[in-house]
Amino acid sequence: MRTPIIAGNWKMHQTGQEAVDLASGLRQRLKDVNGVRVVICPPFTSLLSVSRAIEGSDILLGGQNMHWEEKGAYTGEVSPTMLLTAGCKYVIVGHSERRALFSETDDTVNLKTKSSLKFGLSPIICVGERLEQREANETKEVVEHQVKGAFKDLNSEDVGKTVVAYEPVWAIGTGKTATPEQANEVHRFIRGLLSSEFGRECAEEINVLYGGSVKPENSRELLEMPEIDGALVGGASLDAQSFEKIVRSSIGD
Ligand code: PEP
Repeated sequence: MRTPIIAGNWKMHQTGQEAVDLASGLRQRLKDVNGVRVVICPPFTSLLSVSRAIEGSDILLGGQNMHWEEKGAYTGEVSPTMLLTAGCKYVIVGHSERRALFSETDDTVNLKTKSSLKFGLSPIICVGERLEQREANETKEVVEHQVKGAFKDLNSEDVGKTVVAYEPVWAIGTGKTATPEQANEVHRFIRGLLSSEFGRECAEEINVLYGGSVKPENSRELLEMPEIDGALVGGASLDAQSFEKIVRSSIGD
């Protein structure tokens, strides 16, 4: 049985004290919750202060992106060791906003995936099709390309430490959600791909999260699907009450 993961992607929201307040509020609300792994991914500038605010709780910290090199002349970038020393256990890799707005490619996603694993961070690797690709029946082809690209040259031991997030681009921040059946079908496809590349045992270990306008009103039916092992939540993770409800729905609470 895979333990569900609910990850909050705060994107470019929450300044210093706001981030600490949100994290402290979540800590309070989630203190009796068991059986789900909760990850929050604040902006880089708040990682350390949020790390202190959740210290001693079960909430885990993640970065929203990283460079694949450990250090160097890469102005504006953040390294895996910087994330680790700020308290991160996870890092989001290849989010569609980074692919679309910051020239992230399957090759850089692969470099980041390999580097995060080398330094002991678990990557949350995002894949998903755009609307025109879904309408042209290309969803599986696109997702296959992204999954194979991200996992190129990895061994099954490393793959078992990763998390995949299926996030149809047309559902992110739009209020449109894939139906539970649509999402489950792509999740099954992703697990099948991982199984044929890295073996069934390895594929069964990997959490495949759904992302795209997940909110308290739709999380339960999505998270009840057999292949959906959690959620990557954007907008609704900025509201402590909504995020708490999504977390609780993942354990049928
Ligand atoms: C995301 O940022 O990964 C996301 C899914 O955003 P939202 O929940 O706002 O659609």
